[in-house]
Order: sequence, then C-alpha cells, then structure tokens
Amino acid sequence: TAIMELEQQQQQQDLQVSGLRSARTNPAYLVSNATSHLWVFSAIAELVDNAYDPDCAAAHLDIRHEVMRGIDVLSFTDDGRGMELNRLHNMLSFGYCDKVPVKGHKPIGHYGNGFKSGSMRIGKDAIVFTKTRLANNAVVKSVGLLSQTFLARIGADTIVLPICSWVNDQLAETYPDGAQSLSLITHHCDLFGGFESEVLAQFDRIGKHGTRILIYNLKRTSPDDPSSALELDLVSDRSDIVNSETLQSDAALPAVQRMQLLQTSVSPLIRRSLKAYLSILFMKPRLIIRINNHKVRTQLMQRCLAKRAIDYYSPKLSPSDETRLKLRSNSNYRVRVVIGVLPANHSDYGAMLYHNNRLILPYEKLVKEPELASGVALIAEVDHLEPNHIKQEFIRDANFRNCFLNLTQKLKEYLELHRCSDSAAASSAAAAPPPPSYWRWVQCDSCQKWRRLLDVSDEEFRSIEKRAWYCSMNPDAYYNRCDIAEEVEDEESMVQDYRDARTTARRRNEAAAIRSLLSNSRPAGQSAASHSAESSSKRARFDPPSATSAAVSSSTASHQLGGRHQPSRQEVRERSSNINSCSGGSGGGNVAMSSTQVEQSVVSATAESSTAAVSVDPAAVKREGAVSAARFDRVKDQLRSLRCSVIRLLGHISSDWSTDSDGGRGGPVKVPEFPDQSVDQLLARVVQDLDRQKKQAQQQPRDDGQKQPGASSSNVAAVSDAQEANLSDGEIDIKPIVIDDD
Ligand SMILES: [Zn+2]
Repeated sequence: TAIMELEQQQQQQDLQVSGLRSARTNPAYLVSNATSHLWVFSAIAELVDNAYDPDCAAAHLDIRHEVMRGIDVLSFTDDGRGMELNRLHNMLSFGYCDKVPVKGHKPIGHYGNGFKSGSMRIGKDAIVFTKTRLANNAVVKSVGLLSQTFLARIGADTIVLPICSWVNDQLAETYPDGAQSLSLITHHCDLFGGFESEVLAQFDRIGKHGTRILIYNLKRTSPDDPSSALELDLVSDRSDIVNSETLQSDAALPAVQRMQLLQTSVSPLIRRSLKAYLSILFMKPRLIIRINNHKVRTQLMQRCLAKRAIDYYSPKLSPSDETRLKLRSNSNYRVRVVIGVLPANHSDYGAMLYHNNRLILPYEKLVKEPELASGVALIAEVDHLEPNHIKQEFIRDANFRNCFLNLTQKLKEYLELHRCSDSAAASSAAAAPPPPSYWRWVQCDSCQKWRRLLDVSDEEFRSIEKRAWYCSMNPDAYYNRCDIAEEVEDEESMVQDYRDARTTARRRNEAAAIRSLLSNSRPAGQSAASHSAESSSKRARFDPPSATSAAVSSSTASHQLGGRHQPSRQEVRERSSNINSCSGGSGGGNVAMSSTQVEQSVVSATAESSTAAVSVDPAAVKREGAVSAARFDRVKDQLRSLRCSVIRLLGHISSDWSTDSDGGRGGPVKVPEFPDQSVDQLLARVVQDLDRQKKQAQQQPRDDGQKQPGASSSNVAAVSDAQEANLSDGEIDIKPIVIDDD
C-alpha cells in the first residue's frame, strides 16, 4: 500500500508535467558516470540489485544473451512489480532517489544511480520495458530508451529520454510526448528494424508484471574497434558469462588496488565467472537467477559451513551514526558473525562482508597467513558500515576500522579454538577425525524458502540443484509445503555453545600450559643436575655455595685490582641476585616435597624460556656473568603472566576443589595433575623476591666487606633458613638450587 500511495502521489504530480521529458545532463556524463565500475560484474550486479530491491521484489531474474537483428544483446528479465511511467523516468534520469524500505526489506541502491552507471558500463545503449498493474487493476506498459547512440545521432547536448506508456493497451493520452517518443524509439533503437510491432512484442516476453532490460552495443575489448571481441564472453559456456577482460581490466586498476588484488587474490573465479559471483552476491539468496535458462546455484553459505560458530559484535555507534544509518528502529543493533569451514572444493577463504544482504567485500583476508585461515570463511552483515557508490568497497572510516579489528579478533579466536580442538582430537583418537559435516540447502522455486536436505549424496544434490525444486519434493515431512515457515535454528544456544567451547578451550590451554611446565621442565632440571654433578661433587647435585662465593670473590678481586670498585660491586650484586632468583625464593618449605619440585620446575622453565644467561645451572650462571635489570623484568613478566593463568585456572576449577583443606596451603587436592594453591603463592613470592633483589642490585652497597655465605651445602634446611635471614635483612647471598632425588 505504501508503494501504491507513492505512485498515486507521483501520478498527481505527473499531471502537471508536460513536454518532452529530459534530464538536463550532458550525454558525456553517461560515460564518465559508468567508469567507476572498473569491473564489469559490479555493473551487472547493479541490475541484479534493481530486480532484488523492494520496489521491484522479483522472485526470478533471467539473464540472457540474445541476438536481435544481428546485434548481441544482454537481457535482464524479472517478474517483479514493474513500474509505472514516472518511476521508469526516475530510473532512467539523474537526480532522483525514491527507494524506501518496504516491510523491513531495505533497498540496496541508495543512490538510485545503479541502473544508469551499471547499464552504461556494460553497453552503449539500453532500453527498458516494464509492465505493472495499478490499484484499479489497469495494466500499464511503459518503455524508455537510454541510448548513447541515439543521443549522438540527434546531436543532443542534454540527455533526452524517449519514453512512453500504455494503459490497457491505449497509448496514454496524459503524456503528449508519447507518440513522438514511440516513433523515436522505433527508429533509433536498432533492435527492431523500425517496426513498432516488434517494440510492442517485447512486452509479451514479460509475464503478468515485471521488467525487461535490453543492453546492446556491448563493450568491446578495444572500444574503438567494432570488429574486436566483446568484453564479455557470452558463448563459450552457455550456463555462465565469462569476463574475458579480467586481466585487462585488472591492468587498468590503480597500482595500489592492483597490489591489493594480488595480495588478497580476490577470488579469480569470482572475477571471471558471473555464475560464481552471482551465487554469493546475496547473503540470504531470495532471487532465483538464471543465465541462459541455467539456474545459478546460489548457496545459503552461512548455513552450509561445517564447524559453524555464531557470535555477535555490538559496534559502538554515535546517535548521529544511528540516524544516518537508519538503525534507530533497531536499537539493539549488532552484527551477527558466522564462522565456519567451507566445503572442500572451495579454493577461496576469508571474510564475506555483506550490507543489506548484498555482498560488498568477497573473501577479504582478515588473517594474512593463508596456512592458518585456509578453508575458513567468516560471514557478516555489516549494515552499520557504508558501502561506496558502486558497492564494491566500504568507506574506510572509524566504524570500519573498529569493525575490521573486531572481526579479525573473532576469526583468530575461532582459528585458535579449532587448531587446539583439532590437535586434541588427533592426539586422542588414533583414527583421523571424521570429515566435517555440511548441511545442504535447496531453495524452493515457488516460495523461495530454503529447505534443508537430509541424507543427500553429492551427486543427488547436484542434480537437485540443476532442476526446478519445490517444497513438495522435500522428503522431510516437516518442511514439505510452501506454507510451512522456514526452519529456524536455535541461534541463541549456538552462540552460547560457541562461548562455552571457547571458555573450555581456554581452560584446557591453561591447564596444558601448567602441566607442560610441570612435566616438561623436569628433564631440564635433571639435565642441569647431571651437568652440575659433572663439574662438582657427586653428592651435592647443586653448585656448592663455596664455589660460587669463591667465583664472586675472585671476580671482585680482579675488578678491585683494576680499580673499578663501583661497577664490580654492582656486577657482583646482579650476579648474586640472579643466582638468588634461580633458587626461586624461599617459601616452598611448608609444602614439603611437592612445593620444592614445583619451585624447581617453575624456575627452570622460566629460566629456559627467558634468556640463556638465566640458566637453571648456577654454575653456568656464574660463568655467564652479570644479568641486566631488564632481564629481571622479563623473567618477572613471564612469572606474572604465568601466575595470572594459574589464578584464572584456580578460579575456574575452584568449585571442584575441597573446601576443607587447611587454609588453602598444601591441603589435599582432588585433581592430582594440578598443583595446589601453593603454586600460586609460590609464584607470587618469586615475583616478590625478584622485585626485591632487583632493588637490591640497583642500590648502592652499604659497606665494602663481602658477605660470605654461611650455609653448608649439605644442609638444605640450613640454606633455606639462611636464605630467609639474608632476604629479610637485605643482604646478598648465593644460594644453591635444590633438586630432589625423584
Ligand atoms: Zn515452496
């Protein structure tokens, strides 16, 4: 009814218009206006948009290569509402945009320029036939010619539009230019040989209502040479239209864009094959498109992916953005992000970014490493972003950048999750993981609803896709009639499942990290032990403090001989505090054996991963010499992050833990492979100690005397005591590493 009201308003306005209709625009503008479509398929997509848009709302679109009077024609015939004269005039002329949303179906062509720029990119001339029914059931047929050839012939300095209309087969009297226009069309549109009957016959090619667009004088590979090949290869594959110009039009791109194309390898298939491009042009395909009567196999891509995950992204939008983007009605606007694995025969991957259901960016590579993201697609409808005027790119504003970052993050999370779960599955099961399962969807030719096919082989599916298919053919009795609504999936629970999977994976990773710290580092500790056993006494598998102190004093002595007092003391302090750090603080005693082990493992692992100088082997540390304050910081940071992981892990599994343990310190644990909370305390302590020791190392020495270590190498308890004492009074000491027998 909204459309009807609009039409009536326009008809009333029309009564005041007389004279030959023209848009006061220079014909040269038709050419320059079309050049923004570097890629011919983006021009064709404009015509597809016109059929899809709500004011047309076609269910079917036939794209055909026809030959009329020896002239190659590309025709677009839809079964949409059609247009009355005024609407056709707006479509052909410049400066109008009356596209309005109908029942939530938003128009794609914001600019109202799509037809002009698109058709004039494909060929020099276009003629539009349209048939519609008015509220009083009158049939209105209209025809309009937008022809560069015609304008050149009559030497027009403004774009003249021959356009006329019939109401119930009577040439409309309200338009005095009608007869004149029909005469111009008949004589200047070369497709009809000057016969009015042939012009009128085109209306018979339209059903009860709809629009038929003929584009002729198609662009050639050499525009000035009428004998050169057509830009579009219309004959090699009748089920497709091939852009034979791909390479040349790529060459015409600015260097930056060409580089981007090379980097992103924007799907050579999509750039070359119209069938491939149209199959993904709409996120939720409604329009059934045929090329030369071959059905374009569209896919409900977002529901066909395997290992599908759904997530949401709520962009922060300013009120002005919301108004501008007309999102206010949708106050809880959020971007739905579907990520999943493409069927194996897909060579492309990346993000498919749609706007109002229409593809803007195909296979955008969010993650640059192909080995990571290969086979994975991210599909999102980003209505809050603004496409450029030819709908091939988004305006790169702050909203776009934020969105891009966010989507990249989501893709990385997904890849990380599946890399982990895949490797877990591979290691747990000897057999290869089962192939991912893809759902198959087919669209009803009558009601355009999508139905899921159960238990259909690849071959069966391919044959189903080629033929017409109706709901009644669905073996699934729940969805075998056109009046049954489309299958709805429980999206909220899918979102929740994905969140849960990520949380589980994060916990698993953290647990694995800690477990590997605890297990993998032990051999390292043992090797360190054997190493020091070689160099030192057999019984004490750690470096005797006496040896360390001897090294310290000898180095001090040599520096003193050289007269460099300050640096040498600094060096000694750093070195000794480094060794202190290797002993891993002193708090492990109260957790008996396990704590000592943990202490050892944590310290050795940390030492290994940070820097060669911070070695688990005190002897090696001695030989290495000084460790800078920066290295302390690095070790400390690593411990901090490890500690955070441990705390998070403990938080997650705390409910599984016995609450009656003795104050959380050294109590019995129910999960034997995890250390108890003393690990957390221990780590905190190591960090504390590191801090303290760093501070000490940076302090000026208070006296010239060298403290000798007082502890005996054979008495671990005594060392520990001495450690405590030394740390508490701020003195320097060199302590051994303790390694348990087992
Ligand atoms: Zn149906």
